[in-house]
Amino acid sequence: MFRCPFCGKITLTFSGLIVHVKTHLKDGRCPICLKEVRDLKRHTYAKAKQGGKAHRILYGLLNRGSNGYIGDLMRECRYEAYRACEVK
Ligand SMILES: [Zn+2]
Ligand SMILES: [Zn+2]
Repeated sequence: MFRCPFCGKITLTFSGLIVHVKTHLKDGRCPICLKEVRDLKRHTYAKAKQGGKAHRILYGLLNRGSNGYIGDLMRECRYEAYRACEVK
């Protein structure tokens, strides 16, 4: 099971968590630094590159691109998010 880092909701699968996290991303703000962002994926990507742990986890929880491509940074961050959110 996995725990949402923003509200503590439990989901059965990691992909379920990825779907759930979207509900926190609707008001055009980054849920971590509360900054208004036009493109959250770009914002978290930039922060994740700088090594911000919370942003890395959020970036890892974002959907892949429409073509299904996952870059190296997202692969890493997805693994970190998996480890950070997993409930044992
Ligand atoms: Zn949540
Ligand atoms: Zn942010």
